[in-house]
Amino acid sequence: MSNYTTIGDTLEQTVERYPDRDAIIDPRAEQRFTYAEFDERVNRVANALRERGIEKGDRVATVLHNSNEFVLTVYACAKIGAVFTPLNFRLPGGEIEYIVNDAEAELLVFEGATREAVEAARPALESVDDYVYIDEDVPSYATAFDEVLESGAADPPEVDVDEDDAYAFIYTSGTTGRPKGVVHEHRSMVDHNLLCIAEMNVTRDDVGLSVMPLYHCAELHCNLFPRVQRGATTVIHHEFEPQAALEAIEEYDVSLLFAAPTAWNALSLTAAELDVDVSSLRIGLYGAAPMPEQVLENCRTQLCEDYLQAYGMTEIGPAGVIQRPADQLEKQGCAGLPALNHEVRIVEPDADPDEHVSQGEIGEILIASPCTMREYWNRPEATAQSLREHQGTTWYYTGDLGYRDDDGYLYVVDRKDDMIVSGGENIYPAEVEDVLFAHDGVEEAAVVGEPDEEWGERVVAYVVGENGVDATGLDAYARESEQLADFKRPREYVFVDELPKNPSGKVQKFKLREPVDATGSV
Ligand code: ATP
Ligand code: MG
Repeated sequence: MSNYTTIGDTLEQTVERYPDRDAIIDPRAEQRFTYAEFDERVNRVANALRERGIEKGDRVATVLHNSNEFVLTVYACAKIGAVFTPLNFRLPGGEIEYIVNDAEAELLVFEGATREAVEAARPALESVDDYVYIDEDVPSYATAFDEVLESGAADPPEVDVDEDDAYAFIYTSGTTGRPKGVVHEHRSMVDHNLLCIAEMNVTRDDVGLSVMPLYHCAELHCNLFPRVQRGATTVIHHEFEPQAALEAIEEYDVSLLFAAPTAWNALSLTAAELDVDVSSLRIGLYGAAPMPEQVLENCRTQLCEDYLQAYGMTEIGPAGVIQRPADQLEKQGCAGLPALNHEVRIVEPDADPDEHVSQGEIGEILIASPCTMREYWNRPEATAQSLREHQGTTWYYTGDLGYRDDDGYLYVVDRKDDMIVSGGENIYPAEVEDVLFAHDGVEEAAVVGEPDEEWGERVVAYVVGENGVDATGLDAYARESEQLADFKRPREYVFVDELPKNPSGKVQKFKLREPVDATGSV
């Protein structure tokens, strides 16, 4: 049995091993801490939170951009067994209200940039009785973060945190409905750290740049946490700005960078116009979607050679399937092979884990992972739907559809709930959207199925158009492109000013499926 089974322990072991190595660099706040200094601050915040009445199991919510205070708060919570609950800093007041009330958080940490939204939510936040504010000009009902920090003792807090205690509620992105609180335990997150350290070969000499939001598990769990456990350094950027990121790579000899494919695209375009030395970058990490071929090529020319993609979701940590650098060029559009210690199965949607579909056939992706959540907070039905025991193994039903090629590599096709069944044929909207995207009058497109008396469902495309495009023009293009079988062609085009999106930019198709006045039937 190891003594290092909680997120707090992972920091303590690093402090014992490398007290003087750089832990966190926050250029915006002009702060730089070694592991010993960082740990002392974590202890201070942890003890101060205890003195403010936070006990093991209580939820501490944050509505913060990336900052050293964010990182201090997550480790302080871990050390006292408080449940860290990070919210997206782009959420409007109504969504803050929903999540904070759902989690019944007791304390909320926020900042100037999120103050307006927090204040809009505040009258309805019944569980919160303590507000902490990280910038200057502290509102009367809040306490300054620095004051909290200074009020706490520097000794390690004396709280027994167990490996199966909840470490955090991480809310899902809310693409398919209301965000759900994913309850992650300490030990499974330590396992997730080890998996990421191994898959990315993280060493104590690595320097990672955090530009993607730390409230999301991809940056927090796949990047910050493994680096802290390994004794590597993290440079924190408040948010993503391509030129600043490139300059930081040069200034701090950054070797690891995680970004969404769209952000990699912006980085490669900006790098082409700037004179920066990014030769320290050894690996580029990305997730959420495969990297388009052209973007990958540009990045390889402008930034670094090797890229690693992760496919996964909040519920499993998130890393579940990994496309390793050597496979990037050979297998375009692919998500890769199961991560270490993970098993992936493709089954008939909703079927038993034994009911595999055959190689190459599309089915629901199931994942067995040591890093799977305990449950969705307060949602027993959704938990039972997603986590199913089978012969001693817990399978997570991802709700994503995919297939494996002859070498066993996974390709993600679409979300199960978005699949359209028309006249008995399965239609995957992503395929139709890809064809529409290639038209220069289409800025954005989302394809959904809407009820149809004759066919069960019919294909409807919601389009943000430009260059005067219309339904007749798009229909002619779809026919002439010869990339879409007749039954996949949209039967209706609805032109909209914008598509409904969650704060991370993913299209919320469930909102499109709600009845609207359609225009542009073909
Ligand atoms: P919600 O569960 O609230 O509807 P969400 O599923 O978008 O929101 P996340 O956990 O942030 O919340 O996202 C996970 C989803 O993102 C996956 O289920 C999958 O659909 C998609 N995804 C993640 N990584 C990849 C990838 N590499 N390739 C394709 N799709 C991906
Ligand atoms: Mg999801």
